[in-house]
Amino acid sequence: MDNSTQVFYKSTRDSNKKVQASQAILQGLSEDGGLFVPDHIPTLDKSLRELSEMEYKEVAYEVMKLFLTDFTKEELTDCIQKAYDSKFDTNVIAPITEAEGAYYLELFHGATIAFKDMALSILPHLMITSAKKNNAKEQIVILTATSGDTGKAALAGFAGVKGAKIIVFYPKNGVSPIQEKQMVTQKGDNAYVIGIHGNFDDAQTGVKKLFADKELEKWMKERGLRFSSANSINIGRLVPQVVYYVYSYARLLKEGRISDGEEINVVVPTGNFGNILAAFYARNMGAPIAKLICASNENKVLYDFFCTGNYDRNREFVLTSSPSMDILISSNLERLIYRIAGEDSEKNSEFMTQLSEKGSYKITEEMRDKLKDFYGNYASEQETAQRIKELYEDTGYVIDTHTAVASAVYQKYKKETGDERKTVIVSTASPFKFSRSVMNAIDKKYDSMTDFELVDELSKIANVKVPNAIEEIRTAPVLHDTVCDKSEMKAVVEKILG
Ligand SMILES: *Cc1c(COP(=O)(O)O)cnc(C)c1O
Repeated sequence: MDNSTQVFYKSTRDSNKKVQASQAILQGLSEDGGLFVPDHIPTLDKSLRELSEMEYKEVAYEVMKLFLTDFTKEELTDCIQKAYDSKFDTNVIAPITEAEGAYYLELFHGATIAFKDMALSILPHLMITSAKKNNAKEQIVILTATSGDTGKAALAGFAGVKGAKIIVFYPKNGVSPIQEKQMVTQKGDNAYVIGIHGNFDDAQTGVKKLFADKELEKWMKERGLRFSSANSINIGRLVPQVVYYVYSYARLLKEGRISDGEEINVVVPTGNFGNILAAFYARNMGAPIAKLICASNENKVLYDFFCTGNYDRNREFVLTSSPSMDILISSNLERLIYRIAGEDSEKNSEFMTQLSEKGSYKITEEMRDKLKDFYGNYASEQETAQRIKELYEDTGYVIDTHTAVASAVYQKYKKETGDERKTVIVSTASPFKFSRSVMNAIDKKYDSMTDFELVDELSKIANVKVPNAIEEIRTAPVLHDTVCDKSEMKAVVEKILG
């Protein structure tokens, strides 16, 4: 590989730090607390027309090879083959369903029926390959905070993987019953699941602290262990997410739904800002995306940020029916801030210090000018439920609560702007994962049913088979029941690993 096409990864908080992709994947977070970002976004070297003739795995290779430039062709192909196989219930991997003239990109056909599978089915392989490439002798300990979906997808990806252990922290009262059941029934003697008294931000902040804990790092090293992260702060999660934006464009082109070069919009239900950042990267690679529409639920920090340039997490945390988006600190936004600050790590660090010290920061007008491709809005709980009901009644198509937030925001966007461009709405979870909220939205009469009665009823009204991921947990025994305070996370980790 010649140097000009190599991509290196820089830390958003230290301009002197520069590593290869495999090192960034292995480390997860930079030692200075910064996130790794590519030093430039590579341009697609195949035309969209050529890509439209390829299947998912081939497109994955064409996109990922440009970012993971220290992986050999064999290494990357091997990872891709192991990831996108029969764990997915369709060969297409990410099918598109048209409803009311919009294209729903269904990213929930993997093992745990949420979009996290798109990246977490490949991350373990990227990580093990990265460890080999760097002669890392220590055993990898994946430490992850989850708002519900990352946890199970990471567990499914890493359970049983040799040379790795996985510890997942989730907010005890902040995930859906199905999400919780999926996690606490996880098999595998290298997998640990812990509920915490607190919300997702508490879990995420706690995990970040453990990563930065030098004493703990030393303690780990003495035992032949090292931490890595499966959260979307890991570049090994972000890069695989770029793939489906390129792929969906190519599919629409192949199916004659758009013409070559025609610009489309994408709507992304957003929490930690990973998924929409991947769309932004796809756009910068050359995918003709016009607007990046960022959809929030009632935790609308991002909406306010796009309106005012002020990021302010000082507000009440709301538990909503779209728990995977109940987030007030969107970690991946730092990557965008860094970029619009002119890749100035000092300036970025100042903002992030303000965020951790007083919970807010305000970007400059000059920086705001660089956000013109983004549009932010939000949907209330009522609007979200209304959207599920309406779409179902008009088309028979049932969407989950997160996707409904996106769909409702898209309606607002269209009304406000009159923009009629073709639009991809990213569908991030199967409605089966949030069956109670979904069924309640359609008709209150369902509320008296048990979780699994609801699943069967949903299957009937949507005319969709109950996914395997749900069948599996119907009768599965609970294997994890540890719950701790957020102040006890370190002690719990030491107990597991000691
Ligand atoms: C994680 C998740 C989101 C939010 O994605 P981010 O990359 O964190 O913005 C949205 N919907 C579902 C179902 C998720 O699991």
